[in-house]
Parts: sequence; C-alpha cells; structure tokens
Amino acid sequence: MEYSTRLLMSEFVTRDVKRFIVEKPEGFGFTPGQGVELAIDNDRWRGEGRPFTPTSLADDEVIEFIIKQYPSHQGVTQALHTIEPGQALTLSEPFGTIHYKGPGVFIAGGAGITPFIAIFRELARRNQLQDQTLLFSNKTPADIINEKEFRHMLGDRCLLTCTEISVGGIDDQRITQAYLESKISDFDQHFYVCGPESFMDSVTSALDALGAKPEALVLEQ
Ligand SMILES: Cc1cc2nc3c(=O)[nH]c(=O)nc-3n(C[C@H](O)[C@H](O)[C@H](O)COP(=O)(O)OP(=O)(O)OC[C@H]3O[C@@H](n4cnc5c(N)ncnc54)[C@H](O)[C@@H]3O)c2cc1C
Repeated sequence: MEYSTRLLMSEFVTRDVKRFIVEKPEGFGFTPGQGVELAIDNDRWRGEGRPFTPTSLADDEVIEFIIKQYPSHQGVTQALHTIEPGQALTLSEPFGTIHYKGPGVFIAGGAGITPFIAIFRELARRNQLQDQTLLFSNKTPADIINEKEFRHMLGDRCLLTCTEISVGGIDDQRITQAYLESKISDFDQHFYVCGPESFMDSVTSALDALGAKPEALVLEQ
C-alpha cells in the first residue's frame, strides 16, 4: 500500500540535515526504528522512493523525518532539501528489523541515529531510559543531530565522539574495540548499531571480538 501525504514544514538541524514534518496519512502506523520508502510526488521524482526513518512518536498526529542530504548524488536527498510546504509526497508501508528489544547500548554514526531517535522518544515516554546508553560518532560537533535532546534524555550515558574536530565534553576518536572496551563494562546486553556500511562493519567486528552475542545485535538487515 502506498500512502499520499504532503510536506507541512522543514527546518535545518545541522548544515546538511533537515527535519521534515509531514501530514500523517489515515491508517499509517509504524514501530519506532522502522523505515519507509519516501518519494517526492512530482514528474521528476515520482517512483524514486528512498528509505528514511520516521523519528516522531507512532501516535503523534504528524510524522517527522530527519534527513541528511548528499549533493554529490544529485538524488532524492538533495531534492528533498529544496521542497516547499505543500509538496506532495508518497510513503510506503513501514519495514525493517530495528526495533527495541530491551535495555542496551545504542551505537550510531551520523544520520544512522534516526532509528534510535524514534526508539528513545518512545522509551522516554515510558520512563525506560535509565538502562540505555548512547555512543554517537560524528565528524565534527556541528554535525551532531539533536545533541541537546540526547544529553537531556540520557545525561552521562550520552557519549559523543567526533573524528575530525572535537571540543570539551566530546571524545575525539573513532568507535574502535579499545574505545568500546573503555566505555562499556558489560558486553552481555543488547547492542543496537546503525550507520554507514564501513561503520557497521568495524563496530560489529569490534563487538564480536569483545564477546557480544550475535543474537543480541540489533541491525538493519
Ligand atoms: C532502512 C533505512 C533507513 C534510513 N533512514 C534514513 C534517515 O532517517 N535519514 C537519513 O538521512 N538517511 C536515512 N537512510 C539513508 C538514505 O536512504 C540515503 O541517504 C538515501 O537513500 C540517499 O538517496 P539519494 O537519492 O540522495 O542518493 P542515492 O540514491 O544513494 O544515489 C543517487 C545516485 O548518486 C550516485 N552515488 C551514490 N553514492 C555516491 C557517492 N558516494 N558519491 C557520488 N555519487 C554517488 C549513484 O549514481 C546513485 O544512483 C536510511 C537508509 C536505510 C536503508
């Protein structure tokens, strides 16, 4: 089933990331962490769906997306960053394997944070954030999506690291095996991992080497 909707508003979150508020179509529902295929419904882009993750609560009356643009692709993300309120959009049924399975460590690189935004907001509402930890890696502090929200939600269990430029209160290294070992004492819990392919490969290998159980890893597959 394909749902028709339209853009209500958009605004910048970082220099290359925008949040989009769209109308929630009648009958549309999702589990926090799932993605949908979103397409711009005009002559140029109709049918060119790309996967994005609703970051709002499932019963909010609108849907929020947080989307990073890649101008070098000259594709959908670049076009999305130029659309105006009222633009017609289509959404697919939700899909995907990331959803909350129990307390754990959430490890994200860049825009890979979006499924965890949806999950954390739901856990905040259920008052279940006390056992969750976030490790969030970005290039620079200016690239950190929703930093204040994560610090507010998680306090000192919000661990930020930047690989190109860093400042006080933010680590300055990649998420390596040594970094994970220095930050996490218990590897017998859930690990939720989302980010670019190379990030996924290196983080999941490091977790494996540290004894995390394969069945306790929650990834997009
Ligand atoms: C389940 C899932 C959920 C996701 N959720 C989100 C989300 O919530 N927010 C978010 O920001 N992103 C999310 N993503 C990532 C997002 O889907 C991609 O960024 C998006 O599909 C890119 O679309 P595009 O049309 O701009 O570029 P693409 O479709 O990737 O590329 C368009 C064309 O550009 C060329 N190209 C591809 N890569 C490069 C490159 N590196 N350099 C130059 N040219 C290139 C190719 O010719 C390609 O045909 C998600 C991905 C998945 C799988």
